[in-house]
Amino acid sequence: MHDGHILCLLTDDAECAAIRAALGDGSYLVDLVTSRESLLGDKGGEPPADLLLMRARSGADGEFIKAIRADHGSDRFPIVFLVDPGEETLVEHCLSCGGDDFLTLPIHGAELQARIRSQLSRARAIAASRLDRDRFALAVAGSSDGIWDLTLSDDALFMSPRCAELLGRNGDDGFKRLEDWLAIIHPDDVDQFQVELRNHLEGITLSLQMECRMQHRNQTYRWFLVRGTGQRNATGKAFRIAGSLTDISERKLTDAMTGLPNRIVLYDRLNQTIVKNRRKTSANFGIILLQIDRYETMREAYGQVFCDAVQKVVSQRLVGTLRTTDTLTIMGENTMCILLDVMRDDTDLVRVSHRVRAAAEEPITLGDESVLLSLSIGMAQAQAHHQSAEDLIRDATAALNKARAEGGGQEVVFDPDMQRRARDRLRIEAELHLALKRNELLLLYQPIVDLNTGRLAGFEALVRWQHAQRGLIPPMEFIPIAEETGLIVPIGTWVVQEACRQGREWLDQEGNADLFISVNVSSRQLDGPALPEIVRQALREHRLAPEHLKLEITESAVMRDFELTMKLLKRLKEIGVGLSLDDFGTGYSSLSLLRRLPVDTLKVDRSFVTAMTADTSGVKMVEAILQLARLFDLKVVAEGIEHEEEEKLLKDRGCEFGQGWRYGKPLTVAACLDMMREQRKSTKRIAG
Ligand code: C2E
Ligand code: MG
Ligand code: MG
Repeated sequence: MHDGHILCLLTDDAECAAIRAALGDGSYLVDLVTSRESLLGDKGGEPPADLLLMRARSGADGEFIKAIRADHGSDRFPIVFLVDPGEETLVEHCLSCGGDDFLTLPIHGAELQARIRSQLSRARAIAASRLDRDRFALAVAGSSDGIWDLTLSDDALFMSPRCAELLGRNGDDGFKRLEDWLAIIHPDDVDQFQVELRNHLEGITLSLQMECRMQHRNQTYRWFLVRGTGQRNATGKAFRIAGSLTDISERKLTDAMTGLPNRIVLYDRLNQTIVKNRRKTSANFGIILLQIDRYETMREAYGQVFCDAVQKVVSQRLVGTLRTTDTLTIMGENTMCILLDVMRDDTDLVRVSHRVRAAAEEPITLGDESVLLSLSIGMAQAQAHHQSAEDLIRDATAALNKARAEGGGQEVVFDPDMQRRARDRLRIEAELHLALKRNELLLLYQPIVDLNTGRLAGFEALVRWQHAQRGLIPPMEFIPIAEETGLIVPIGTWVVQEACRQGREWLDQEGNADLFISVNVSSRQLDGPALPEIVRQALREHRLAPEHLKLEITESAVMRDFELTMKLLKRLKEIGVGLSLDDFGTGYSSLSLLRRLPVDTLKVDRSFVTAMTADTSGVKMVEAILQLARLFDLKVVAEGIEHEEEEKLLKDRGCEFGQGWRYGKPLTVAACLDMMREQRKSTKRIAG
C-alpha cells in the first residue's frame, strides 16, 4: 500500500529518480512519463494517477492542461509544476492556466512532501463530498417522495421538482416561503399543520409527521404525509427544517380490503354534491346504506378471514349492478354506502336497492362453504334540510337501524311519504305490464262542440285504467310511466284500434256521418316509422273513413325531433286522418316551424282559457293564438271550458270549437250515446 500514485512528466529517468529520492521512504508510487500525448484522450475515464508533477514550459502548458482537465474534470487530478530558479514569471502562467501548485528547483524533500500531501488531501476531500452529493441526488431522484427544506431565519422554502410534480405544479409556481405552502393546504388541515410544525420546532415532538390534504393544480385535494426534522444550533434552537412529502391519497382513500373508495371519499363527494345542488329547488341525489345481516354470527361461525372474503364478494357484486354515476364506498366493516349522484326520480333509490339486493342475496360459495345472505338497507334522499354529508348519512342510518330492527332483509326509506310514493310507482310499473293483457284499459270520450251552434262535433278519446283494487286510475298516473318504459307503444296501438272500433259502432248505430274521434299520440309513438301503418290497419279493419279519425300530438313532442316528426306527419296526412297540435302554447314552437307542420287544428291549452278570465293579458294571448290560426288556416279547439264567461269570450273572438266540463266530462260509451240521441231529438224538434 502506498499513499498515492504520482506521475512525473519529465524528460529523463534521472530527474524522476531525484523526485523519488526526495520523497524518501517509498510511501508514494512514482512513475515517469515522457510524452504528453500519452496522458490524453481517455475522456471521462479514471485519471492516470493521483497527482501529476510536471516541468513548466512557457507557452505550451495551457493547451495541455485544458485538454487533460477536459478529460478528467477540473478538480480530480491535482497538477503541480516544477519551475527552474529565475523563471518565476512562469509561475503566474502555470497557475493561471490551471495548475494547482508549484515548486522551485532544486527540490527540497520536506517541501515536496508537504505540497504533495496537501494537494492529495484536498483532492480527496472534494471527491468524497462529490460522492455524497451524487448519492444524495441519486436518492432524491430515485424516491417517489418530494423533498422540502425551510430555512427559518429568512423564511426561504425549497421544494424539489418532485414536490412540485406531486402537486401538479411546475417549478415557477412559486413555493418560495412557508406562506405559499400554507396557502395550498386544505382549510380543515392548515391549523393542525401549523400546530404540528410549531411543536416540533419548539422541541416538543421528536419529528414532524402529519397527514394533510393539499391542493393539486387541478383544484382537487390530494392526501400527503409530511415528514420533517429540524436542525438545531448548540442551544437547541431550530434554524432549519427539512423533510419529505409522500402522496398517500391511494391508501388514504381506499378501503384496504376491497380496494373501493372509503368513507373519506364518501363524505367528500357527498359534500360536493350537496354544495353543487344547493341552489336547485329539487335536489335529486341520495344514499343507500347496506349491511349484511347477522354478520357477527357469521364471524363467530366462520372467522374473520371468511367474513372479509364475503364482504369482498358482496362489494364486487354491488359494483357490477351500479351505473357509472353511482359510487359504492366502504364506510367501515360491514357497512357499505351507495351514493346516487344523479337520480331520475324518487324511485331510483328503491330501484337500485332492489337490484343490489338481488345481486347480493345470490348464494356465495367460498372454498367448501356456501352462505346465503340478506341485507338490511336504509335510504335517504337529499332534502333542503340536508346541509352536509353528516345530515344525510344520519337520516339514512336511522332508516338502516329501522330496517335492522325489523329483523333484517328489510329496506327502509327515511321519508315515509317518499317511500310510499316510490313504492306506488314501482307497483304501477309492474302491474301496467298486465293491464293490457287483462283488458283493464278503457276509453272515455269527452265531447268537442261547435261553439257557434252548440252542436256535438266529435269526441276526444281519453284512456283510463280500471284497476281491480285501486279503481279508475287517471292517465297522468300511468301514461308517464308507460312512456318511460316503452309500454306506451302497445297501449297507444290499442287506443287507436279501440277508437276506430267505437267510431264504426257509433256510425252503424247512429249514422252521424260527420262525427270524429280524436286520439292522443305520445312522442314515443313517433320515434319509429310504425304509426302510419298502425293507423291504416285500424281504419281498414273497422272500415272507417279517415275523416272520422284525428290524431293529437303535443307541441313538445313535435319539437323533439322536428324533421323526423315532419316526415311521419306527412305520411299520416296522406292517409287522410286529421292532425291536431295538442296543448298548444305550452311548448316552444317557432312560427316558421309551425307553418311547415301539416296539422289542421290547434288545441289551445286549458291554462290559456283559464287565464282569460283572470286578466286582460290572458284574453290578449288567446286573441293572438286565434289570429295565428287564421293566418295559417287552422281550426281551433279551446280546451278546458268550464264557465259561460269563457265560452262567450272565445265565441266573440271567432273560436270555432270548444271542449270542457261545460259540455261534458270524459264520458262512458253509454253516456255518449245518450248525448248523441238527445241531440238528434233536439235537432228534429228544431227542424220539425
Ligand atoms: P289532454 O290530451 O290535453 O286531455 C285533456 C285533459 O283535460 C283530460 O284529462 C281532460 O279530462 C281534461 N279536461 C277536459 N276538460 C276539462 C275542464 O273543463 N276542466 C279541467 N280541469 N280539466 C279538463 P285526462 O283525461 O286526465 O288526460 C290527461 C292527459 O293524459 C291528456 O291531456 C293526454 O295528454 C293524456 N292522455 C289521455 N289519454 C291518452 C292516450 O290514450 N294516449 C296518450 N298518449 N295520452 C293520453
Ligand atoms: Mg289531447
Ligand atoms: Mg290538451
